[in-house]
Amino acid sequence: MTKVRALVLERQHELALRDIDLPLEVGPGMVKIAIHTVGVCGSDVHYYTHGRIGPFVVNAPMVLGHEAAGTVTQVGEGVTHLKVGDRVCMEPGIPDPNSRASRLGMYNVDPAVSFWATPPVHGVLTPEVVHPANYTFKLPDNVSFAEGAMVEPFAVGMQAASKAKIVPGDTALVLGAGPIGTMVALAALAGGCARVIVADLAQPKLDIAAQYQGVIPVNIREKNIVEEVGRLTEGWGVDIVFECSGSPHAWKTITDLPRPGGAIVIVGLPVEPTTLDIAGLSVKELRIESVFRYAHQYDRAIALIASGKVDLKPLISETFAFEDSRKAFDRAVEARPTDVKLQIRVAE
Ligand code: ZN
Repeated sequence: MTKVRALVLERQHELALRDIDLPLEVGPGMVKIAIHTVGVCGSDVHYYTHGRIGPFVVNAPMVLGHEAAGTVTQVGEGVTHLKVGDRVCMEPGIPDPNSRASRLGMYNVDPAVSFWATPPVHGVLTPEVVHPANYTFKLPDNVSFAEGAMVEPFAVGMQAASKAKIVPGDTALVLGAGPIGTMVALAALAGGCARVIVADLAQPKLDIAAQYQGVIPVNIREKNIVEEVGRLTEGWGVDIVFECSGSPHAWKTITDLPRPGGAIVIVGLPVEPTTLDIAGLSVKELRIESVFRYAHQYDRAIALIASGKVDLKPLISETFAFEDSRKAFDRAVEARPTDVKLQIRVAE
């Protein structure tokens, strides 16, 4: 164990920037990374404000943060694809490579996965971390640390776009213009959608999404989304609906939105029990897909960012110094509609 400084969630509502013992030995197949930038995620904030997410409860002090980029400072035995000085970003989930889910290629749903900042696993708001090289990805020179730290939430969008089985020229609808909804919209456009309608109640969120070519914002405080989809698709419906709002209301009319044979992709988790119109689903032969984090998305996410086809920079709302980490979290709790992603720069 090594004593290091970290942003520690002591218990619900209590954050401290303090020293803590963390394991930093570099074993075979592992790399040590000097953390540069960490994004503040909704899940980190939820542990801070609620002390739990579903079955995951903060029962002991836990370091927060799982959206990270940095520089390799040490490589373990057997690591061949990374070297000291490489700029990298990391997948926060480490599955058991021999589990049945991993062997099926679905390592994201491996029940044994150990995921940063999910109790009891520590996160990475700390200057150094040791991680498996196989879940550490080199950043091209033209991808910044800030963009590298955005790969994690963007990978969720990539997973949603992949599960949707987009066909070039498709029209998609994204319900919910939060950070994940916006990532999904960008991944859907990069994946071949001609248009992505984005629906939300908050105009500032829609304005941010509407900066991107191909996004059609719809404020559902002013317009009925079923009518609006009908108008934009000549009454046919969209090819794909991505549900990213987590709102039980979204499910009430969701089967009215896709075209016959279209798809609904569940990205947001409803906060309350939700009903689904099964008959409405059946008469259109709709396909339903769900998304849990991501698998095999990081390399392609990084390639899209490096190519310039996906620009995540406009989504970084503000960057805080490591010493101001608590300020960053209190700002995130405010949930300003003009904030998409707040980041913390651990190293200058
Ligand atoms: Zn995240």
